[in-house]
Amino acid sequence: MQGGTYHDLRKRGVEQIASLEFDGIAIGGIAVGESKEEMLDTMRFTTPLLPTDKPRYLMGVGTPVDLLDAVEVGVDMFDCVMPTRNARNGSLFTSQGKVAIKNAKYIDDQGPLDPNCSCLTCRTVSRAYLRHLYTNDEIAAHVYNTIHNVSFYLDLMRGIRQSIASHSFAAFRAAFLDRQPTTDNP
Ligand SMILES: [Zn+2]
Repeated sequence: MQGGTYHDLRKRGVEQIASLEFDGIAIGGIAVGESKEEMLDTMRFTTPLLPTDKPRYLMGVGTPVDLLDAVEVGVDMFDCVMPTRNARNGSLFTSQGKVAIKNAKYIDDQGPLDPNCSCLTCRTVSRAYLRHLYTNDEIAAHVYNTIHNVSFYLDLMRGIRQSIASHSFAAFRAAFLDRQPTTDNP
């Protein structure tokens, strides 16, 4: 659902919602079932139309790259199941890309999950141990993985806020994307 009519309706929606006395404004209905292209199109069209004196909140998004793309057009706030759900599925976000912790290559890997993360998981257990916990369906795998993924997202958002404050968001985004090529196959 693209094109003039769709954008006209989104614009009308923005105008009506923005005229009301809400504390913040959510952009929704674009991240559950819609394609990535539709999500990006709507986000890029809608966000710049919103008032800038209220928080702009994108519902249900997304990957670390989605967050960077959304911040670029003016989104302030997010919530998403991705860090915790992916953690429970053994899909871990790191500064060097995604890690599928079940992969056999981690069986003897005594290094930390993410050498650039200071969360409890990365400070105290190895990739090999995380893989052992995950492949044996240990609840501790969910706990350790969730602590790390949530820490990774919080660190990412903290870095984004700092880069905006120092007028270096574009460089921060480019550096983040440069560090992401070594993603495991799912
Ligand atoms: Zn960590």
